Amino acid sequence: MQKFAIIGMGCAGYHGVKSLREHGYEGEIHVFSDVSHPTANPMLTTYYVAGKIPRERMFPFGSLEEFTREFDVQVHADTKVLRVDTGSRCVVLEDGTREAFDKILIATGARAVSPALGQGGAGRTFLMRTVSDADQLKTMLEQNRVSSAVVVGASMVGIKVVELLYNRNVKVTMVDMASRLFPLACMQETAEILEQDLKDRGIDLLFRTGVDHVEETGEEVKTFLTDGTCLTSDILVLCIGTRANVELVANTQVIESEPVKVNRGIVVNTRMETNVPGIYAAGDCCEGTNLQTGETMIIGLWANAAAQGSCAGANMAGCVEEFPGSLPNNITHYFDKDFIGIGDPDLPGERNIFTNSHGMVSVIHEKDQLKCVNILGNYRISGMVKEYFVHRITGQGEDLTIADAGLLRASGVPEDFIVLLGGYHD
Ligand SMILES: Cc1cc2nc3c(=O)[nH]c(=O)nc-3n(C[C@H](O)[C@H](O)[C@H](O)COP(=O)(O)OP(=O)(O)OC[C@H]3O[C@@H](n4cnc5c(N)ncnc54)[C@H](O)[C@@H]3O)c2cc1C
Repeated sequence: MQKFAIIGMGCAGYHGVKSLREHGYEGEIHVFSDVSHPTANPMLTTYYVAGKIPRERMFPFGSLEEFTREFDVQVHADTKVLRVDTGSRCVVLEDGTREAFDKILIATGARAVSPALGQGGAGRTFLMRTVSDADQLKTMLEQNRVSSAVVVGASMVGIKVVELLYNRNVKVTMVDMASRLFPLACMQETAEILEQDLKDRGIDLLFRTGVDHVEETGEEVKTFLTDGTCLTSDILVLCIGTRANVELVANTQVIESEPVKVNRGIVVNTRMETNVPGIYAAGDCCEGTNLQTGETMIIGLWANAAAQGSCAGANMAGCVEEFPGSLPNNITHYFDKDFIGIGDPDLPGERNIFTNSHGMVSVIHEKDQLKCVNILGNYRISGMVKEYFVHRITGQGEDLTIADAGLLRASGVPEDFIVLLGGYHD
């Protein structure tokens, strides 16, 4: 009987297992996870800290027991895989145990970037990625008087942390090296509107400056910025990006056999297989194709991790499936705002802003070629807009269906934008 290993039990690992069974694989599945809880959704951590959901809701696919039973897997919880030996296709654990597998899926995700910033350690600096990060920040907020905070990172993670702190009457300063909010998704025109809303709430925004170093005491944390400013606050939350967890293969060249190729993430083909036959990767630990640029990059989105995990599972089970890639996008609901960003806001092109009584759509395009779309105030149409955007940039260029065009109109999407998205013809 064949024996497969899945390393990491996040979204990608879970979907890898599910897909293996759905595609008829009947052999053993061993899941190695360096945490003790079931699959967690990192997107829900801020909702838990905010008290909007109970702790168990961070685990969207149920308990470990349910997972084990449903998919007939052997879960090795609290078991970190130190290395993957590509030659013997072995998983090497921290205690030196080696176990060989017929196929391996690496789904180790990413971790929040946590630079050495100097004199810390007093427990006033937090990250926001894992269940443990969420537990720590929640405990701090519930057991201490926190009246001021610095949040570094104007991303979709940073804004959710700003929101939850603001709702607890914490005075917040948001800092980012970039020039605007959501720099990877938001056009300047849209950012100005969103930033004004934050300022109107009393949230301070400092752009074009980063953290130089930090000094923590038992009472406060001093954040020294690269522009010379020093911010004193009760807590500091770092939301400055992620780094792929690739160390378990990144140093395999020191072993005798061919290394797994790693750029910023593990390099895979469209079947999610690495350069080493039988070793696959999926999710935030690996690179995928950006459908807009054709370049490979770490996509860092839940739906992408699910699709890559499913694709890897199907191919490991012996079927042939391809995953063409993803389009970077940001769909964020915070305060009373819905921001949708699809495509790259830094690409050149004609810039148009369409407004009507319902809201605003900002677009970068070259003739009928869409480059970037920002929508304020209508998350329900995000899936549909993204789908037609992908059709346009991949050359499929289909007209909108009557129903979709009608739904967009009913949602207040301006007519000129519907035309750019593909138009509708009788
Ligand atoms: C606050 C926040 C908000 C977000 N918001 C959005 C959003 O709005 N939309 C969106 O699409 N995405 C969002 N994301 C990103 C999304 O959550 C991730 O892209 C997705 O969860 C990645 O899944 P994954 O399985 O690849 O990785 P992970 O969820 O990181 O899972 C990897 C697992 O592998 C384990 N592991 C790592 N190394 C080892 C090892 N050596 N041995 C054993 N186990 C190991 C880890 O502990 C972890 O449990 C957000 C993320 C955060 C943190």
